[in-house]
Amino acid sequence: MASAPGSPVRVRFCPSPTGNPHVGLVRTALFNWAFARHHGGTLVFRIEDTDAARDSEESYAQLLDSMRWLGFDWDEGPEVGGPHAPYRQSQRMDLYQEVGQKLLEAGHAYHCYCSQEELDSRREAARSAGKPSGYDGHCRELTAQQVAEYQAQDRRPIVRFRMPDETIIFTDLVRGELTFTPENVPDYGIVRANGAPLYTLVNPVDDALMEITHVLRGEDLLSSTPRQIALYNALIELGIAKSVPAFGHLPYVMGEGNKKLSKRDPQSSLNLYRERGFLPEGLLNYLSLLGWSLSADRDIFTMDEMVAAFDIADVNPNPARFDLKKCEAINGDHIRLLEVKDFTERCAPWLRAPFAPWAPEAFDEAKWLAVAPHAQTRLKVLSEITDNVDFLFLPEPVQDEASWAKAMKEGSDALLRTAREKLESADWTSAEALKEAVLAAGETHGLKLGKAQAPVRVAVTGRTVGLPLFESLEILGKEKTLARIDAALAKLAA
Ligand code: GLU
Ligand code: ZN
Repeated sequence: MASAPGSPVRVRFCPSPTGNPHVGLVRTALFNWAFARHHGGTLVFRIEDTDAARDSEESYAQLLDSMRWLGFDWDEGPEVGGPHAPYRQSQRMDLYQEVGQKLLEAGHAYHCYCSQEELDSRREAARSAGKPSGYDGHCRELTAQQVAEYQAQDRRPIVRFRMPDETIIFTDLVRGELTFTPENVPDYGIVRANGAPLYTLVNPVDDALMEITHVLRGEDLLSSTPRQIALYNALIELGIAKSVPAFGHLPYVMGEGNKKLSKRDPQSSLNLYRERGFLPEGLLNYLSLLGWSLSADRDIFTMDEMVAAFDIADVNPNPARFDLKKCEAINGDHIRLLEVKDFTERCAPWLRAPFAPWAPEAFDEAKWLAVAPHAQTRLKVLSEITDNVDFLFLPEPVQDEASWAKAMKEGSDALLRTAREKLESADWTSAEALKEAVLAAGETHGLKLGKAQAPVRVAVTGRTVGLPLFESLEILGKEKTLARIDAALAKLAA
């Protein structure tokens, strides 16, 4: 969907490149993207890389790669450009410097000379007196003499924003009206003593300069919103911002044990989902359900459907639970929705080293194309394809002792001998005929089909579970099937 020219909606996705992208970040990107596309607005992709100690070029490259893999497009940002370039904060330092200076000159900010120890001990004292423990305004009105003294002590000040002494009320797009009283929102630092601007400054300054109309982000950032609104009002006064954007805070995502899913949780790493063979459309479908739903009776939908229906007012403020099982099930449904050809192409990485255990020359394209439709009906994630088809390309089936023990019972040798006999004379152009053969062998020994086919499956594929057996035998071929039954009989005899 192209953005409609003149649409007032401008949203942003503005991660910091600090480590692997995680699913919480993806959910935020998704909701911003869907909101922008729904309104025919503009999605700005901005890189918040002002923390030289934590940001890295590698993470930056990964972020872009992840966004592309997920299928997001952005209207302004890296690789795309736009009227507010550059979109990497590390390349915009002069701007922040300038705004910091203007805020100081207008009295919206001041130099704070307090040392960390002084701040800590006063905070402790306030706490034990039962008073609010945020910054106490110590440096708000320093006299020229006090400043001179601090400077003589060689103290280097930070720049602190002066919060107005008034209650801040705003209507969150997800949570409704929220009220913050001044004692809960103390003056806060915007520039470090070494001159480096902080997130608290650069984020709202860029939102203002980039004319962002709606800020959709995680609930963890809710406490910074009243500060940003106050800063925005100062920027409006200075002619830097036009208006305060609307804010919507997306619900927390809970992981195992009902704890907040953290970016350090292995379960939250986007790379893990890519490596396991989640489809971007399956993963995004699932992540959209963390706070939103298309309708009460439909869990599976496309991103186009989400875009058409997305309304930020429908987002549920309650914490959402990340459920890996459900995520896999939804992904499986998206695998089912692929064209067969698309499915076979997407499996390609798992049919080669390092995932595939067979020699590259053992791979047989015709067998793969024959078996693929049977695999497509049962995978939850694409990486499962390797184990499901290895019996076709390995010289011998895998030796899975647990499967062997489970399937090979007293009398399995007799059953296998009869099955071999019947299979030998069966019509190998028909999976149905192979089934008849095993069924007949089972009858000879008083076994139902399920019991009769288990030893055959383990003899041929090495595992108790797998793709539909008789189609598998047909594709593997008569010669190899019979040889594997012989090998199993030999192992049973030994
Ligand atoms: N760079 C910030 C983060 O990743 C952006 C927060 C925001 O959306 O305001 O947490
Ligand atoms: Zn101070």
